[in-house]
Amino acid sequence: MKALIKKDTIKTLTTHYIDGVFVESHGREVMDIIRPTDRQIIGRVTLADEEDTRRAIAAAKRAFTSFGGSTKEERAEILRRLHEAFAARIDDLTDAMVEEYGAPAVFCRAMMESAANIFLSAEKALHELPLTRSWGKTTVTLEPVGVAGLITPWNANSFFLSAKLASAVAAGCTAVIKPSELSSLQTQVWLACVQAANLPNGLCNVVIGRGDVVGAEIVRNPDVAKISFTGSVAVGKSIMRDGAATMKRVTLELGGKSPNILLEDVDLDKAIPTSLAIALMNSGQACVAGTRLLVPKTRLSAVKEAISETILNFPVGDPTNPKTAVGPMVTQKQYDRVQTYIRKGIEEGAEVLVGGEGRPRGLEAGYFVKPTVFVNVKNDMTIAREEIFGPVLSVIAYDNEDEAIRIANDTSFGLHAYVNGTDVARARRVASQLLAGRVAINGLVDDQQAPFGGFKNSGVGREFGTYGIEAFLEPRAILES
Ligand code: NAD
Repeated sequence: MKALIKKDTIKTLTTHYIDGVFVESHGREVMDIIRPTDRQIIGRVTLADEEDTRRAIAAAKRAFTSFGGSTKEERAEILRRLHEAFAARIDDLTDAMVEEYGAPAVFCRAMMESAANIFLSAEKALHELPLTRSWGKTTVTLEPVGVAGLITPWNANSFFLSAKLASAVAAGCTAVIKPSELSSLQTQVWLACVQAANLPNGLCNVVIGRGDVVGAEIVRNPDVAKISFTGSVAVGKSIMRDGAATMKRVTLELGGKSPNILLEDVDLDKAIPTSLAIALMNSGQACVAGTRLLVPKTRLSAVKEAISETILNFPVGDPTNPKTAVGPMVTQKQYDRVQTYIRKGIEEGAEVLVGGEGRPRGLEAGYFVKPTVFVNVKNDMTIAREEIFGPVLSVIAYDNEDEAIRIANDTSFGLHAYVNGTDVARARRVASQLLAGRVAINGLVDDQQAPFGGFKNSGVGREFGTYGIEAFLEPRAILES
């Protein structure tokens, strides 16, 4: 399917944000921005090159000489200003995310509210985090690590940019940011918020470009001390490997294949709507999506029936409609990827309960897929092992609690897990045995002070709260005789 051109609405972006001002791109490559609902070209962005990136790094390095010595109160003040600036533009941030990325409006609004609130959460965490500790003749201070490179994916770009910037600022670091090139329009609104917050020049620099150009320069540049990356496992591994040459500190937030365990005593009236919401959130393009639903064999037929009925409450369609639960995939590539996995699931013997291959009727213009639930899935099938990043749920049956825990942990990922049951003590006991950075009991819960990050291939390090700030700090001990 080819993208369509509608000239009158095309937005042209040719600048990057360096040292507090918008500067024309030195890089010359131009990329089309395609709206996923109808494949219209809605913008063109001129991508940065290595030279743009080096200028941004130099600006961040200059700014660090003063901001690196800022007090807690000075950082807190900036975080409050950022919060106010973002809170004032929630509508615009939401609209940009819906248009450019295609996620359902309700989801986008919630994410953008979180993006505004994360600055206050970081401020609270900063106040709670002692930056100096001493005993006897020893004093330990937590020092900002230096210039931080922040690299984000397309699936909630503005939220990730905010979360990473909030922790970096709280720690006293300056930043060079490479948003996903697929989020260029959203990044303009995000930047308008940053500008409104009136930060010191060079504290926050944003270069829009390709990963293998701008991202690679940030990773290799010796003036960048730390990388905080959210994205795929493959790129995360390359950052860890290439960053070793300059001994980069790294935080890697990578993929997931999260288990969602329904315990025997689960209340299906509550758990099935919640489980579908967890699987289909952000049209399934969510690292924390609960995409393996583990069901006791004794409840399997009831679960199948409940899913078949409840999925009707998760309509796919126009993401601007507040009733829509699933929007289009972000790109043709992502659409093709999801189709390939659905086909693979069928070929490997899983049974399609709802959905299947192809586009939903009436939605042929965009990158829409059918929300799909597979049953009779074995945990060694490809659809149960690999991250699909689309609205595809695999239902896996188990015999007893021990087997559920074993299947849940039998994955190369460990980002998130979910447990549902009426006996909360039992749910807690199961949760404590799951190898995941976060385990949510009976629902989709968030806490911006709780650490976020993964075990195993889901990454290295943690974000949010004091954990997220510590990732940008380096302890220095001063010992007196
Ligand atoms: P991606 O890894 O392709 O790209 C992420 C970012 O890295 C983009 O900005 C990209 O331009 C950049 N990049 C690409 N190559 C690079 C290189 N060589 N050096 C430096 N930067 C480079 O991921 P994506 O397709 O944008 O996003 C989807 C992935 O992100 C999924 O795997 C998903 O699970 C993951 N994700 C993880 C989390 C989390 O918090 N754990 C959250 C959201 C998404």
